[in-house]
Amino acid sequence: MTPFELRDYQQQVVEELRHSYATGHRSPLVAMPTGAGKTAVFSYISLQSAAKQKRTLILVHRKELLLQASRSLDRLGVRHGLIASGFSWMPYPTQVASVQTLVRRLDRLDWEPELIVVDEAHHVVPDNTWGKVLSAYPRSRVLGVTATPCRTDGRGLGDVFDDLIIGPTIAELTERGFLCPTKIYAPPIQADLTGVRMRAGDYAKDQLAQAMDKPVIVGDAIDHYRRLCPGVPAIGFCASVEIAQKVAVEFSSAGFKAASLDGTLDSATRSHLIDDLGSGRIQVLTSCEIVSEGTDIPVVTAALLLRPTQSLGLYLQQVGRVLRPAPGKSHALILDHVGNVMRHGLPEADREWTLEGEKRRSRKGESEEKPETVRQCPKCFCAHAPQPTCPNCGHRYVVEARRLEEVRGELIELDKAAIARQRKEEQAKAQTLEELIELGRKRGYKPGWAQRYWKARQSKRQQWGQAHG
Ligand SMILES: [Zn+2]
Repeated sequence: MTPFELRDYQQQVVEELRHSYATGHRSPLVAMPTGAGKTAVFSYISLQSAAKQKRTLILVHRKELLLQASRSLDRLGVRHGLIASGFSWMPYPTQVASVQTLVRRLDRLDWEPELIVVDEAHHVVPDNTWGKVLSAYPRSRVLGVTATPCRTDGRGLGDVFDDLIIGPTIAELTERGFLCPTKIYAPPIQADLTGVRMRAGDYAKDQLAQAMDKPVIVGDAIDHYRRLCPGVPAIGFCASVEIAQKVAVEFSSAGFKAASLDGTLDSATRSHLIDDLGSGRIQVLTSCEIVSEGTDIPVVTAALLLRPTQSLGLYLQQVGRVLRPAPGKSHALILDHVGNVMRHGLPEADREWTLEGEKRRSRKGESEEKPETVRQCPKCFCAHAPQPTCPNCGHRYVVEARRLEEVRGELIELDKAAIARQRKEEQAKAQTLEELIELGRKRGYKPGWAQRYWKARQSKRQQWGQAHG
């Protein structure tokens, strides 16, 4: 058997897991950032389980992840079967299954796992394919692993998992050299999302695709890539498959080696494209959804964010693709053309996860503004944690000129005023009650806010009408 060493924090997660089961939990969820090595953790658990001849099922949802888990088990000498189209049943105690295949074979399969490991566990909803597989085995223990313990709509996973084990943070992993520090550029946003509705917690895909399908946006992305990091391996996250294809064509016309990747391609072509990105034969690989998860190519250095999202989970999955360290890679570059960093905070921001989703920092008052977490340099567009000068170009923020002892307080006050102004403008733009309700929901206000604001506005207008009519 291959010797297998867990990193100290992985060992700690394993111990916390043991404690969780020992104290009566049936389905703990482990949250570890991309690059922390969650495959190593669940492979180790599977190895232990296999050593005890326990039937273990590893559940994944894409061919790439299936093969990745399989390779990891091979390295540990864990013999296993694959439950996926094109593979026949092998009677090993450890099985790696594609959730789509397994859900179709549930009634034919005369095999019951004692432990189910769920990779990318944020996908589980009680009544989707994942949930169906879990409920087919009510006696099994479950272990969920994910980098983002929340669903696309921001809800938590407490209806599926009963304990949450939090691994190290992105900031810790970066400090220890397990992840790359980030450099973020957020050029002025070219996309106009006015009128794009929300659906299931994120922008409605069709309307979003329409808003993002603009030559000026692609042109801007190409300009910045050329200026900031020409030729470095990059992934472009786009709002639709069609846009991903167009963006790749435009990058090619601009002289870069580019291609797009989507679910219509067969898995061999997909893995070729990913290999080509790793080897430099492709410089920019664009995609709508497929590369958000599970593609681990450390040399990929730049993330081109071209898909606005309200989903914190999706944002973190996307930027997570470029955080792995590689020889010669000093920074991960995030070129955010759509405001996702401002919307969700820096990738390494400390987030308080619970089984109910991300805990909101302050809910004291509805009107209370979030503290400033991201500052953007007006000169070089670098987005960074608040500090008096831009870490990229050295630009000094104006407020620095004031008396030093006042600086900290001033910064917060000034920025709060700016944010409040921006929010007022946003509110004024909302034309209908429905739009106000949506705005309120985005900001995490209580449902009554929009109604109260709407009423107040109506009565103001009436008064104005009476006075001037
Ligand atoms: Zn700057």
